[in-house]
Amino acid sequence: MIKTKGYAAQTPTTDLAPWNFERREVGPHDVQLKILFCGVCHSDLHQIKNDWFDGIFPMVPGHEIVGKVVKVGGHVKKFKVDDLAAVGCMVDSCQVCVNCKAGLEQYCLEGNTQTYNSEDRSGVPTYGGYSDTIVVREEFVLRVPSSLPLAATAPLLCAGITTYSPLRHWKVGKGHKLAVLGLGGLGHMGVKFGVAFGAEVTVLSTSPSKEKPAKALGAHHFVVTTDKAQVKAARGSFDFILDTVSAEHDMDLYLSLLKTDGTIMCVGAPPDPYSIRPFSLIGARKSIGGSGIGGIPETQQMLDFCAKHNIVSDIEIIGIKDITKAYERMLKGDVRYRFVIDMATL
Ligand SMILES: [Zn+2]
Ligand SMILES: [Zn+2]
Repeated sequence: MIKTKGYAAQTPTTDLAPWNFERREVGPHDVQLKILFCGVCHSDLHQIKNDWFDGIFPMVPGHEIVGKVVKVGGHVKKFKVDDLAAVGCMVDSCQVCVNCKAGLEQYCLEGNTQTYNSEDRSGVPTYGGYSDTIVVREEFVLRVPSSLPLAATAPLLCAGITTYSPLRHWKVGKGHKLAVLGLGGLGHMGVKFGVAFGAEVTVLSTSPSKEKPAKALGAHHFVVTTDKAQVKAARGSFDFILDTVSAEHDMDLYLSLLKTDGTIMCVGAPPDPYSIRPFSLIGARKSIGGSGIGGIPETQQMLDFCAKHNIVSDIEIIGIKDITKAYERMLKGDVRYRFVIDMATL
Protein backbone atom coordinates (compact mmCIF):
# COMPACT_ATOMS: atom_id res chain seq x y z
CA MET A 1 0.00 0.00 0.00
CA ILE A 2 1.07 3.61 -0.59
CA LYS A 3 1.35 5.83 2.47
CA THR A 4 -0.58 9.04 1.80
CA LYS A 5 -0.89 12.35 3.63
CA GLY A 6 -4.12 14.27 3.40
CA TYR A 7 -6.64 16.52 5.07
CA ALA A 8 -9.83 14.83 6.20
CA ALA A 9 -13.07 15.52 8.00
CA GLN A 10 -13.41 12.79 10.65
CA THR A 11 -17.14 13.50 11.10
CA PRO A 12 -19.70 15.88 9.50
CA THR A 13 -19.26 18.27 12.44
CA THR A 14 -15.46 18.49 12.60
CA ASP A 15 -13.18 20.74 10.56
CA LEU A 16 -10.68 19.29 8.13
CA ALA A 17 -7.40 18.26 9.75
CA PRO A 18 -4.29 16.28 8.78
CA TRP A 19 -4.88 12.55 8.36
CA ASN A 20 -2.64 9.77 7.12
CA PHE A 21 -4.11 6.92 5.10
CA GLU A 22 -3.18 4.39 2.42
CA ARG A 23 -3.85 4.12 -1.28
CA ARG A 24 -3.73 0.94 -3.34
CA GLU A 25 -0.49 -0.11 -5.01
CA VAL A 26 -0.17 0.91 -8.66
CA GLY A 27 -1.81 -1.89 -10.69
CA PRO A 28 -1.00 -2.77 -14.32
CA HIS A 29 -3.58 -0.26 -15.63
CA ASP A 30 -3.04 2.44 -12.98
CA VAL A 31 -1.33 5.82 -12.98
CA GLN A 32 -0.01 7.39 -9.77
CA LEU A 33 0.08 11.19 -9.55
CA LYS A 34 1.93 13.43 -7.17
CA ILE A 35 -0.79 16.03 -6.57
CA LEU A 36 0.41 19.60 -7.14
CA PHE A 37 -2.85 21.57 -6.95
CA CYS A 38 -6.44 20.83 -6.01
CA GLY A 39 -9.40 23.14 -6.55
CA VAL A 40 -11.96 23.80 -3.82
CA CYS A 41 -15.48 23.05 -5.08
CA HIS A 42 -18.69 24.01 -3.33
CA SER A 43 -19.64 20.35 -3.35
CA ASP A 44 -16.61 19.57 -1.14
CA LEU A 45 -18.23 21.55 1.64
CA HIS A 46 -21.70 20.08 0.98
CA GLN A 47 -20.28 16.58 1.22
CA ILE A 48 -18.18 16.95 4.38
CA LYS A 49 -21.29 18.45 6.03
CA ASN A 50 -23.58 15.61 4.86
CA ASP A 51 -25.83 18.18 3.15
CA TRP A 52 -26.88 15.82 0.36
CA PHE A 53 -26.61 12.31 1.84
CA ASP A 54 -24.79 10.41 4.60
CA GLY A 55 -21.16 10.41 3.55
CA ILE A 56 -18.27 8.02 4.15
CA PHE A 57 -15.98 9.22 6.97
CA PRO A 58 -13.16 10.02 7.40
CA MET A 59 -13.62 12.02 4.16
CA VAL A 60 -10.80 13.51 2.09
CA PRO A 61 -12.50 15.91 -0.37
CA GLY A 62 -11.17 17.29 -3.65
CA HIS A 63 -12.01 16.49 -7.28
CA GLU A 64 -10.18 19.18 -9.22
CA ILE A 65 -6.76 17.56 -9.26
CA VAL A 66 -3.65 18.34 -11.29
CA GLY A 67 -0.28 16.77 -10.78
CA LYS A 68 2.67 14.95 -12.17
CA VAL A 69 2.84 11.26 -13.03
CA VAL A 70 5.27 9.49 -10.68
CA LYS A 71 4.54 5.84 -11.53
CA VAL A 72 2.66 3.89 -14.20
CA GLY A 73 1.54 0.25 -14.38
CA GLY A 74 2.99 -2.14 -16.97
CA HIS A 75 -0.01 -1.91 -19.32
CA VAL A 76 -0.39 1.87 -19.24
CA LYS A 77 -0.07 3.35 -22.72
CA LYS A 78 -1.07 7.03 -22.57
CA PHE A 79 1.16 8.21 -19.70
CA LYS A 80 4.77 8.07 -18.63
CA VAL A 81 6.64 9.31 -15.56
CA ASP A 82 6.90 13.15 -15.38
CA ASP A 83 3.85 13.78 -17.60
CA LEU A 84 1.41 16.43 -16.38
CA ALA A 85 -1.99 14.90 -15.71
CA ALA A 86 -5.33 15.59 -14.11
CA VAL A 87 -8.21 13.81 -12.40
CA GLY A 88 -11.73 15.16 -12.09
CA CYS A 89 -14.93 14.10 -10.36
CA MET A 90 -14.86 10.39 -11.19
CA VAL A 91 -12.21 7.66 -11.11
CA ASP A 92 -14.06 4.65 -12.54
CA SER A 93 -17.25 3.34 -14.14
CA CYS A 94 -18.49 -0.02 -15.48
CA GLN A 95 -16.86 0.67 -18.91
CA VAL A 96 -19.36 -1.60 -20.73
CA CYS A 97 -22.84 -0.02 -20.52
CA VAL A 98 -24.27 1.98 -23.40
CA ASN A 99 -23.35 5.31 -21.79
CA CYS A 100 -19.79 4.26 -20.94
CA LYS A 101 -19.35 2.98 -24.51
CA ALA A 102 -20.50 6.38 -25.76
CA GLY A 103 -17.94 8.21 -23.60
CA LEU A 104 -20.59 9.35 -21.15
CA GLU A 105 -19.07 7.67 -18.10
CA GLN A 106 -20.63 10.30 -15.85
CA TYR A 107 -24.00 8.76 -16.70
CA CYS A 108 -22.82 5.12 -16.28
CA LEU A 109 -25.92 2.99 -15.79
CA GLU A 110 -24.27 1.28 -12.82
CA GLY A 111 -23.20 4.64 -11.40
CA ASN A 112 -19.71 6.05 -11.78
CA THR A 113 -17.17 5.86 -8.96
CA GLN A 114 -16.72 9.34 -7.55
CA THR A 115 -13.23 10.59 -6.72
CA TYR A 116 -14.10 10.77 -3.02
CA ASN A 117 -17.01 9.91 -0.74
CA SER A 118 -17.69 6.87 -2.89
CA GLU A 119 -16.69 3.19 -2.95
CA ASP A 120 -14.50 1.83 -5.69
CA ARG A 121 -15.54 -1.25 -7.70
CA SER A 122 -14.13 -3.48 -4.93
CA GLY A 123 -15.92 -1.66 -2.13
CA VAL A 124 -12.97 0.36 -0.79
CA PRO A 125 -13.72 4.03 0.04
CA THR A 126 -12.28 6.61 -2.34
CA TYR A 127 -10.31 9.62 -1.06
CA GLY A 128 -9.94 12.85 -2.99
CA GLY A 129 -7.36 15.42 -3.92
CA TYR A 130 -6.69 17.22 -0.63
CA SER A 131 -3.75 14.82 -0.38
CA ASP A 132 -0.23 14.34 -1.69
CA THR A 133 -0.81 11.46 -4.12
CA ILE A 134 -3.57 9.50 -5.88
CA VAL A 135 -3.76 6.24 -7.86
CA VAL A 136 -6.30 6.13 -10.70
CA ARG A 137 -6.92 3.77 -13.60
CA GLU A 138 -5.51 5.13 -16.83
CA GLU A 139 -8.89 5.60 -18.53
CA PHE A 140 -9.86 8.26 -15.97
CA VAL A 141 -6.65 10.28 -16.09
CA LEU A 142 -6.56 13.34 -18.38
CA ARG A 143 -3.60 14.81 -20.23
CA VAL A 144 -2.78 18.41 -19.29
CA PRO A 145 -1.39 20.44 -22.20
CA SER A 146 1.93 21.95 -21.11
CA SER A 147 0.92 25.50 -22.05
CA LEU A 148 -1.79 25.64 -19.36
CA PRO A 149 -0.86 27.28 -16.02
CA LEU A 150 -1.28 24.36 -13.62
CA ALA A 151 -2.99 25.89 -10.58
CA ALA A 152 -5.62 27.68 -12.68
CA THR A 153 -6.24 24.49 -14.65
CA ALA A 154 -7.41 22.53 -11.59
CA PRO A 155 -10.94 24.04 -11.51
CA LEU A 156 -11.46 23.10 -15.16
CA LEU A 157 -11.86 19.50 -13.98
CA CYS A 158 -15.21 20.27 -12.32
CA ALA A 159 -16.35 23.87 -12.79
CA GLY A 160 -14.94 23.90 -16.33
CA ILE A 161 -16.38 20.69 -17.71
CA THR A 162 -19.71 21.21 -15.91
CA THR A 163 -20.30 24.35 -17.97
CA TYR A 164 -18.50 23.29 -21.18
CA SER A 165 -20.54 20.11 -21.60
CA PRO A 166 -24.09 21.59 -21.66
CA LEU A 167 -22.98 24.47 -23.91
CA ARG A 168 -21.61 21.88 -26.35
CA HIS A 169 -24.59 19.53 -26.01
CA TRP A 170 -27.08 22.29 -26.83
CA LYS A 171 -24.69 23.64 -29.51
CA VAL A 172 -24.58 27.15 -28.12
CA GLY A 173 -22.58 29.46 -30.35
CA LYS A 174 -22.64 32.20 -32.98
CA GLY A 175 -26.02 33.86 -33.39
CA HIS A 176 -27.25 32.75 -29.95
CA LYS A 177 -28.07 34.93 -27.01
CA LEU A 178 -26.86 33.13 -23.91
CA ALA A 179 -27.58 34.23 -20.36
CA VAL A 180 -25.49 32.94 -17.47
CA LEU A 181 -27.34 32.89 -14.17
CA GLY A 182 -25.03 33.23 -11.16
CA LEU A 183 -21.42 34.37 -11.29
CA GLY A 184 -19.50 31.99 -9.03
CA GLY A 185 -17.07 29.17 -9.78
CA LEU A 186 -19.38 27.66 -12.42
CA GLY A 187 -20.84 30.89 -13.80
CA HIS A 188 -17.51 32.56 -14.48
CA MET A 189 -16.46 29.53 -16.56
CA GLY A 190 -19.84 29.60 -18.34
CA VAL A 191 -19.17 33.20 -19.37
CA LYS A 192 -15.68 32.38 -20.68
CA PHE A 193 -16.87 29.38 -22.70
CA GLY A 194 -19.98 31.15 -23.98
CA VAL A 195 -17.85 34.02 -25.28
CA ALA A 196 -15.27 31.61 -26.76
CA PHE A 197 -18.05 29.73 -28.59
CA GLY A 198 -19.21 32.99 -30.19
CA ALA A 199 -22.46 33.58 -28.28
CA GLU A 200 -23.68 37.00 -27.13
CA VAL A 201 -23.41 36.60 -23.36
CA THR A 202 -25.44 38.29 -20.64
CA VAL A 203 -24.87 37.73 -16.93
CA LEU A 204 -27.99 37.65 -14.77
CA SER A 205 -27.39 38.48 -11.12
CA THR A 206 -29.23 39.83 -8.10
CA SER A 207 -26.22 41.97 -7.24
CA PRO A 208 -25.36 45.10 -9.28
CA SER A 209 -21.79 44.91 -7.93
CA LYS A 210 -21.16 41.91 -10.23
CA GLU A 211 -21.52 43.97 -13.41
CA LYS A 212 -17.90 45.09 -13.56
CA PRO A 213 -16.40 41.64 -12.89
CA ALA A 214 -18.87 40.06 -15.35
CA LYS A 215 -17.76 42.41 -18.12
CA ALA A 216 -14.11 41.85 -17.19
CA LEU A 217 -14.70 38.15 -17.90
CA GLY A 218 -15.97 39.03 -21.36
CA ALA A 219 -19.76 39.23 -20.82
CA HIS A 220 -21.41 41.62 -23.29
CA HIS A 221 -24.38 42.59 -21.13
CA PHE A 222 -25.54 42.52 -17.53
CA VAL A 223 -29.06 42.35 -16.08
CA VAL A 224 -29.86 42.94 -12.41
CA THR A 225 -32.68 40.48 -11.78
CA THR A 226 -34.10 42.47 -8.87
CA ASP A 227 -34.57 45.53 -11.10
CA LYS A 228 -38.08 45.34 -12.60
CA ALA A 229 -37.34 47.60 -15.56
CA GLN A 230 -34.23 45.63 -16.54
CA VAL A 231 -36.10 42.32 -16.23
CA LYS A 232 -38.97 43.64 -18.35
CA ALA A 233 -36.57 44.75 -21.05
CA ALA A 234 -34.93 41.30 -21.09
CA ARG A 235 -38.20 39.35 -21.39
CA GLY A 236 -38.29 36.85 -24.28
CA SER A 237 -34.75 37.64 -25.34
CA PHE A 238 -32.50 34.60 -24.68
CA ASP A 239 -32.03 31.40 -26.64
CA PHE A 240 -30.41 29.74 -23.63
CA ILE A 241 -29.92 30.33 -19.94
CA LEU A 242 -27.10 28.47 -18.19
CA ASP A 243 -28.45 28.15 -14.65
CA THR A 244 -25.59 27.66 -12.18
CA VAL A 245 -27.52 28.58 -9.03
CA SER A 246 -27.71 25.97 -6.29
CA ALA A 247 -30.08 27.85 -3.98
CA GLU A 248 -33.83 28.23 -4.43
CA HIS A 249 -34.75 30.61 -7.29
CA ASP A 250 -37.78 31.68 -9.34
CA MET A 251 -37.81 29.44 -12.43
CA ASP A 252 -40.96 31.10 -13.83
CA LEU A 253 -39.14 34.42 -13.86
CA TYR A 254 -36.17 32.96 -15.76
CA LEU A 255 -38.39 31.02 -18.18
CA SER A 256 -40.05 34.34 -19.01
CA LEU A 257 -36.69 35.64 -20.22
CA LEU A 258 -36.38 32.88 -22.87
CA LYS A 259 -37.41 33.24 -26.50
CA THR A 260 -39.88 30.76 -27.99
CA ASP A 261 -38.12 27.35 -28.09
CA GLY A 262 -35.57 28.58 -25.55
CA THR A 263 -33.90 26.25 -23.05
CA ILE A 264 -32.72 26.57 -19.48
CA MET A 265 -29.68 24.34 -18.89
CA CYS A 266 -29.46 23.49 -15.19
CA VAL A 267 -26.07 22.67 -13.69
CA GLY A 268 -26.68 23.90 -10.12
CA ALA A 269 -28.31 21.61 -7.59
CA PRO A 270 -30.74 23.36 -5.22
CA PRO A 271 -31.70 21.11 -2.29
CA ASP A 272 -35.46 21.40 -2.93
CA PRO A 273 -37.54 20.60 -6.06
CA TYR A 274 -38.08 23.40 -8.60
CA SER A 275 -41.52 24.95 -8.63
CA ILE A 276 -42.65 25.70 -12.21
CA ARG A 277 -45.98 26.86 -13.60
CA PRO A 278 -46.80 24.65 -16.61
CA PHE A 279 -47.77 27.71 -18.67
CA SER A 280 -44.23 29.02 -18.29
CA LEU A 281 -43.24 26.11 -20.57
CA ILE A 282 -46.37 25.56 -22.65
CA GLY A 283 -46.76 29.27 -23.45
CA ALA A 284 -43.81 29.27 -25.87
CA ARG A 285 -42.53 25.68 -26.26
CA LYS A 286 -39.75 26.18 -23.70
CA SER A 287 -37.55 23.51 -22.14
CA ILE A 288 -35.61 22.88 -18.97
CA GLY A 289 -32.73 20.39 -19.12
CA GLY A 290 -29.99 19.29 -16.80
CA SER A 291 -26.37 18.27 -17.27
CA GLY A 292 -23.71 16.77 -14.98
CA ILE A 293 -19.94 17.20 -15.47
CA GLY A 294 -18.84 15.54 -18.75
CA GLY A 295 -17.45 12.24 -20.00
CA ILE A 296 -13.75 11.51 -20.20
CA PRO A 297 -13.39 12.15 -23.99
CA GLU A 298 -15.21 15.48 -23.66
CA THR A 299 -13.17 16.48 -20.60
CA GLN A 300 -9.99 15.92 -22.61
CA GLN A 301 -11.48 17.89 -25.50
CA MET A 302 -12.25 20.74 -23.08
CA LEU A 303 -8.67 20.81 -21.72
CA ASP A 304 -7.30 20.89 -25.27
CA PHE A 305 -9.79 23.65 -26.19
CA CYS A 306 -8.70 25.66 -23.13
CA ALA A 307 -5.04 25.32 -24.10
CA LYS A 308 -5.79 26.51 -27.62
CA HIS A 309 -7.91 29.47 -26.50
CA ASN A 310 -5.98 30.43 -23.35
CA ILE A 311 -8.89 29.72 -21.03
CA VAL A 312 -8.35 28.88 -17.36
CA SER A 313 -10.19 29.59 -14.14
CA ASP A 314 -9.68 32.82 -12.17
CA ILE A 315 -8.25 31.61 -8.89
CA GLU A 316 -6.91 32.47 -5.46
CA ILE A 317 -4.19 30.09 -4.26
CA ILE A 318 -4.30 29.04 -0.61
CA GLY A 319 -2.29 26.86 1.74
CA ILE A 320 -4.10 23.79 3.02
CA LYS A 321 -4.08 25.12 6.61
CA ASP A 322 -6.44 27.88 5.45
CA ILE A 323 -9.08 25.54 4.07
CA THR A 324 -11.68 26.16 6.79
CA LYS A 325 -11.30 29.94 6.37
CA ALA A 326 -11.62 29.46 2.61
CA TYR A 327 -14.89 27.55 3.07
CA GLU A 328 -16.26 30.41 5.19
CA ARG A 329 -15.36 32.91 2.49
CA MET A 330 -16.79 30.66 -0.23
CA LEU A 331 -20.12 30.53 1.61
CA LYS A 332 -20.23 34.34 1.53
CA GLY A 333 -19.38 34.38 -2.19
CA ASP A 334 -16.11 36.10 -1.26
CA VAL A 335 -13.85 34.49 -3.86
CA ARG A 336 -12.97 35.33 -7.47
CA TYR A 337 -13.75 32.69 -8.49
CA ARG A 338 -12.17 29.53 -7.18
CA PHE A 339 -9.80 28.68 -4.35
CA VAL A 340 -7.01 26.30 -5.32
CA ILE A 341 -4.89 24.54 -2.72
CA ASP A 342 -1.14 24.48 -3.30
CA MET A 343 -0.40 20.92 -2.20
CA ALA A 344 3.23 21.77 -1.47
CA THR A 345 1.82 23.28 1.74
CA LEU A 346 0.57 19.91 2.98
ZN1 LIG B 1 -17.04 20.03 -8.05
ZN1 LIG C 1 -21.24 2.15 -17.41
